[in-house]
Amino acid sequence: MKALQSEIERRGRRIFELVDKHPEPLFSKAGFYQRLMALSMRDERFKVQLFRFVDVLPSLRRSREIIEHLNEYFSDNGFGPLVNAGVRLARVVPWVSGRALRWNVSGMARQFIAGRNPDDVMATLRKRRAQKIGFTVDLLGEAVVSEAEADEYAARYLDLLEKLARETKNWTDPLGENSELFPVVNLSVKISALYSQMNPADPADAIAHLAPKLRPLLRRARELGAFINFDMESYAHKNTTLELFKTIFSEREFKDWPHTGIVIQAYLRDSEADLRDLIEWGRARGTRFAVRLVKGAYWDYETTKSLQNSWECPVYFQKPESDMNFEILTELLFENQSIVTPAFGSHNVRSIAHAQALADELGIDHSLFEFQLLYGMAGPIKRALVEMGYRVREYCPVGELLPGMSYLVRRLLENTSNEGFLRAKFAEKVSAKELLRDPREIIQRAKSASPLGKERRLDPAVEQFRGDVYVNSPLVNFVYKDSQDKMRSALREVRSRFGEKYPLVIGGEKVWTDQLTPSVNPSAPDQIVGYGSEAGIPEAERAVKAARAAFGKWSRTPFEERARLLERAADILERRRYELSAVEVFEVGKPWNEADGDIREAIDFCRFYARQMRRLGRPKLTQQVPGEESYHHYWPRGVAFVVAPWNFPIAIMCGMASAGVVTGNTVIMKPSEQSIVCGSMLMQVFEEAGVPPGVLNFLSGHGSVIGAHLVDHKDVDLIAFTGSREVGLKIWESAGITRPGQRELKRVICEMGGKNAIIVDSDADLGEAIDYSIYSAFGYQGQKCSALSRLILLEENYDRVMERLIPAAASLRIGNPEEPGIMVGPVIDEAAYRRILDYIEVGKSEATLAYQAKDVPPQGYFIPPTIFTDVKPNMRIAREEIFGPVLSVLKVRDLEEAIEVANGTDYALTGGFLSRSPANIERVKAQLEAGNVYINRSCTGAIVGRHPFGGFKMSGSGTKAGGEDYLLNFLVPRVVTENTSRHGLAPEQTPEYRDEFLWPKPRQ
Ligand SMILES: Cc1cc2nc3c(=O)[nH]c(=O)nc-3n(C[C@H](O)[C@H](O)[C@H](O)COP(=O)(O)OP(=O)(O)OC[C@H]3O[C@@H](n4cnc5c(N)ncnc54)[C@H](O)[C@@H]3O)c2cc1C
Repeated sequence: MKALQSEIERRGRRIFELVDKHPEPLFSKAGFYQRLMALSMRDERFKVQLFRFVDVLPSLRRSREIIEHLNEYFSDNGFGPLVNAGVRLARVVPWVSGRALRWNVSGMARQFIAGRNPDDVMATLRKRRAQKIGFTVDLLGEAVVSEAEADEYAARYLDLLEKLARETKNWTDPLGENSELFPVVNLSVKISALYSQMNPADPADAIAHLAPKLRPLLRRARELGAFINFDMESYAHKNTTLELFKTIFSEREFKDWPHTGIVIQAYLRDSEADLRDLIEWGRARGTRFAVRLVKGAYWDYETTKSLQNSWECPVYFQKPESDMNFEILTELLFENQSIVTPAFGSHNVRSIAHAQALADELGIDHSLFEFQLLYGMAGPIKRALVEMGYRVREYCPVGELLPGMSYLVRRLLENTSNEGFLRAKFAEKVSAKELLRDPREIIQRAKSASPLGKERRLDPAVEQFRGDVYVNSPLVNFVYKDSQDKMRSALREVRSRFGEKYPLVIGGEKVWTDQLTPSVNPSAPDQIVGYGSEAGIPEAERAVKAARAAFGKWSRTPFEERARLLERAADILERRRYELSAVEVFEVGKPWNEADGDIREAIDFCRFYARQMRRLGRPKLTQQVPGEESYHHYWPRGVAFVVAPWNFPIAIMCGMASAGVVTGNTVIMKPSEQSIVCGSMLMQVFEEAGVPPGVLNFLSGHGSVIGAHLVDHKDVDLIAFTGSREVGLKIWESAGITRPGQRELKRVICEMGGKNAIIVDSDADLGEAIDYSIYSAFGYQGQKCSALSRLILLEENYDRVMERLIPAAASLRIGNPEEPGIMVGPVIDEAAYRRILDYIEVGKSEATLAYQAKDVPPQGYFIPPTIFTDVKPNMRIAREEIFGPVLSVLKVRDLEEAIEVANGTDYALTGGFLSRSPANIERVKAQLEAGNVYINRSCTGAIVGRHPFGGFKMSGSGTKAGGEDYLLNFLVPRVVTENTSRHGLAPEQTPEYRDEFLWPKPRQ
């Protein structure tokens, strides 16, 4: 080990010597770019603004726009003289500075992009050939939103391949030895660019679509003697990419083809297992293949994404851990050199020197592997490696600036990263000794000091704040095969229970009635998921009595006990998670991830409200004054009637019921007639959690019968309703009438529909705009109250958006959501089906039918995703809630009109804005009339605690489910004041909290 380390140091020093012979700054482009990067490395805030500006710039067409953005991003932010002078100059001569900026940023991109097109790139490749550097070419443009784009991309790859083969016909391997392993023409392929509907839950579907697109390319590559490499992208696509590689190269046609490779990312914790699996596969296949080992380019993305979803993070947190793993995998590759050809993709001299030294130690000839480095980076290192006699290949991206933006930002991030080798060596001039240290040593040191990585970036104030915030239950990550298998087996198990009967639960007793209501599978209406006992007026009366009777004791039960009940329920929901998701798939037609999101939300409601109750539960002193104590506290209201919808059949019911129960009310919950089985499941969960008899009662039946009866009931004190505007308004009115014998003014919590709009600004990222709009409009068939139904486009970018929106809608996967990866399933029932079709007819008469899907399953309540254009704000399809996969597109002059149109409805539930103009974003934040305003994301998918959810105007009574003030709706506030002074003598201190009087201790 020691000998290896000294050999690594020797080699490393040699590389540094060679590098120093041709000194070059970190960024070979002088001037503007260097200064910006230097500033970025000094000031994290500037870096963020700069990268955002760089990101939006290519989409800006006029100098005026460029200058406006420059101003918005940089002016008055204290970024120092350089930037301020630039901004001032830009204000004076916008035309000149706009052009200059674009030119400079294009220059920045050109530094990393080897050519705009295949012709262009040849000049670069020729230069490299003269320097004895080989190439692999990649086509920029990763995120495709439609199959049309994916097909075009595949065709461009084929063109590129032909061109490269033609132009390099007489080229030979620069090293000469073992050249049969390293074809001259080498193409790097981004798999996600070839299929727009890749879904991590469904690798089989992705492979079925990708393989036919790849085969012609592979076939031709083989004929031309070229090499094809599969690049690796984000973690979500990793398993599919590996599976695709193994599947396609096991096919008879390609089984004996050695010129194929794949990337392994050492920053992934499971990379060693993946590499071992690949090697085993390779041995069974019996033909050599290649692996490009890299650390990984998506570190920031992966950490942010997993933090957002409360997922276990797939990447290491400490940089030296990635470095160490790179070395472990290097060894594994060399050990298996007989079947796998290694390529090391790194600019880190330690990682490179390690590979060199280890190869020597293991007796592996240097011509049997290669080093690969990125175009525009680490030029001196490439030169040094060539001088040392190694094979070097450069990764050369080709394409226009716009599709290359995310690539450029990744490179900028890499170059300015605090932890990167290049910055340490070339910008911070860290010593060779330090740079060549064994990463194992650094990890050990780091363990005893503060943790590296993401954690280290948080300042203490942020950490403290985070400590206070509710941490959501993780979503199931369907990227894992284990999760997919569990879901499949849950679906099988739930299917085997089809047709079971479910009772009412009143006062802790199961109650069966003569009437049974069938609940059908909307994907296959001949299948009955289950039958619910139907309650009539007698059962409703019984439920009110049971709830009333239980109220006295429950209202005096300490809140801690009530909170624990919710936490037990959350644990049971967690345990039964897949099963409950499967029930939702069958009963309400939810796609896998949507169903799982619903169960996650239910779990969160329980845990979040338990936490909130602990915060609110104790009587709190209002002010410290001598001689008097006043305690502010809450009492429950009484009997709560919870009326839940079918579209979030477990989460919303659970949210309303758990809020009722934890606040000390007793609850009668009524599921929607379409989701009785889901409702019964939730009742089972609470029974298992130990809810006392009468505290929670389950009553399924017709809204018009028991619903109306209970709303009007004198002994019902509170109604929590989520559903349609029509029913909500009736409840609101009815509950306003005071009945004889009624004790309380009824409190109504009423959440109704929306006619939600997203505005797309002229500078929006179009790929994202399409993704978010499509998901918001058609996810769960448009049956979320938050769903997008009006897409508002500015005249200026109307054509560009529509050009991509329609093919994107046409690429959606429509089908039975039992299949993973389905985006659009059936609508809930026949009535909804007919109503939506009627609306489509209305749309045809009012506006232009721009798109309607053709292939939907013949059985089941499937409505084809439909898009109308030429929609005007006064049309019915722009005003009335449709609750289905129907999107109206409205064209407006400018942002002012866009906001006016967005606000011009009866509703105010959700609203979205997609833009990269900080000023416009601020304006929309201030002016959009919606309870939940979403910027640069979809307008659906609220998360408990993070996005308290609910609207106003005709969308609801202004309450926020999952917010910290939600429980107050279930409580009456009370203050008790006591004069504690006797003849002027008062206790010195009054306790901040006092709860003895709420829950008196039993007498000893
Ligand atoms: C030819 C070539 C092809 C490539 N192809 C791909 C590809 O297909 N897919 C892909 O993802 N990347 C690819 N890359 C990009 C590559 O992943 C990055 O360039 C590389 O990670 C930089 O590593 P380094 O060894 O050069 O630098 P170093 O500075 O030693 O390492 C930087 C890397 O360390 C990791 N890291 C940073 N901070 C932390 C932390 N706190 N904890 C843990 N790890 C951390 C990150 O991976 C980061 O990129 C390729 C690179 C090259 C040269």
